[in-house]
Amino acid sequence: MNISDRNARFREIRDKVESGTRLTLDDGIFLYDPQVPLQEVGELANYVREQKNGNVGYFNINTHLNPTNVCVYRCRFCAFRSDLRDPKGYAMSDEQILDRGREATENGCTEMHIVGGLHHQRPYEWYRHIIELLHDNYPQIHLKGWTAVEINWFEFQTKKSIQWVLEDLRDAGLGSMPGGGAEIFHPEVRDQLCEHKANTHAWLEIHKTAHEIGLRTNCTMLYGHVENAYHRIDHLLRLRELQDQTGGFQVFIPLAFHPENTKLSNLKKPSALMDLRTMAVSRLMLDNVQHIKAYWIMLGIETAQTALAYGADDIDGTVRHELIYHDAGATTPEFLSVDKIKDLISETGREPVERDTVYRRVHRDPNDFTKWRSGEPVETALVS
Ligand code: SF4
Repeated sequence: MNISDRNARFREIRDKVESGTRLTLDDGIFLYDPQVPLQEVGELANYVREQKNGNVGYFNINTHLNPTNVCVYRCRFCAFRSDLRDPKGYAMSDEQILDRGREATENGCTEMHIVGGLHHQRPYEWYRHIIELLHDNYPQIHLKGWTAVEINWFEFQTKKSIQWVLEDLRDAGLGSMPGGGAEIFHPEVRDQLCEHKANTHAWLEIHKTAHEIGLRTNCTMLYGHVENAYHRIDHLLRLRELQDQTGGFQVFIPLAFHPENTKLSNLKKPSALMDLRTMAVSRLMLDNVQHIKAYWIMLGIETAQTALAYGADDIDGTVRHELIYHDAGATTPEFLSVDKIKDLISETGREPVERDTVYRRVHRDPNDFTKWRSGEPVETALVS
C-alpha cells in the first residue's frame, strides 16, 4: 500500500472511531501494520480512552497469592509451574495462607489475586477451602480468584456443572474472577501453546456463566510469542462478542509474553513499540469494555506509564508476592509503595484514583490508612 492509500485508509478508521462505528477484523489487522505510524494509532486510542475514562489513571492496593505451583499441565509459555517432586514445587499451608491475609490487611490491601497450578493431589475442596479460610478471617478483602482454566479443572474434579462450581465458590467467598488462561484463542496458536488445558469454548463458556450469575470477570490476551496480527484481532473480537451478550468483563489486560525459563526461550520478548501498539489497538477494538489495564509488572514501569497515553486507563496495583512473571524473567520490582504508584501516574499528567476490584472509588480513613470503604462506581466520578 502506498502512503496516500495508507493515509486514506487510516482516515477512514479515524472517522469510524470518531462516529462510534465499530472496527472490523480488517481494520484491526491494518492498525497492526508497522507502516501505520504508532503515534497516530496511539492518538486515536487516547481519544477513546479520554472519552471513556477522562484523565484518570486507576490503581489499586493489592496482593497476590499463588497457593501452589504444582501443575498437571505444561504450557509452553509457563515458567511458574513445577512437577510434584521438583525441589521448586510447593503447596501452601493454611498458616501461610492466613499470614498472607494478615499481611494484606496490615498493608491496607483491598484485593487478593489468587491463581496457581492444578495440583493433581489436591481435591477441589482444598481450592474451595482457601477461599473460605480467607473470606472468614479477612472478610473485607475482595478475593479475585481462579482463572477459567482452574474452574475447568474443578468441573473435571467434581463432575459438576460450571454453574455449580462458580456458585459454590461464590458461597465460599469468591468475589470475582481474573482473566488469565485466555492466551490466544485461535486454535492455530492455542494448540501450539497449551493444547491440553481449557479450550477456547470452555474459557468463554465459563466467563459467560460467571457473568450470568453476577460475578464480574477480567479478560486478557497473551501476545508476543508465535501469534500474528490476525490471531490477536480474532481474539479481541471473540471477547467483544461475549461482552455484547453479557457486559460482564470489567477490564481487558494485554499480557506481554516473557520467554525466560519457558519452552519458548528462543523467542525475544515483545518490544515496547509492540506493547504500546497492542494497548492502543485493544482500546480501539474493544469498544464495549470500559477499562484497559497496563500491567506494570509485565510491561516495565516506563512502558506502563507511556501506555496511559496509548489507550490504558489503569496501571494495576501495588502488588506483593508476584511470582508468575518474575519466574519468567520480569525485572520489575516485586511491589510498589502506594506513594510510588501515585507518583508514577501523576508524572504522566493523569489523576491517580484508587479503585477497588469492581471499580468503585476507595475512601480511606485519613488517620488510619488501613481502614477503608468502597464508595461510588468510578464512572460516576470521572473528571471531565
Ligand atoms: S500456565 Fe497455568 S495451567 Fe499452564 S502450566 Fe502454567 S500453571 Fe499450569
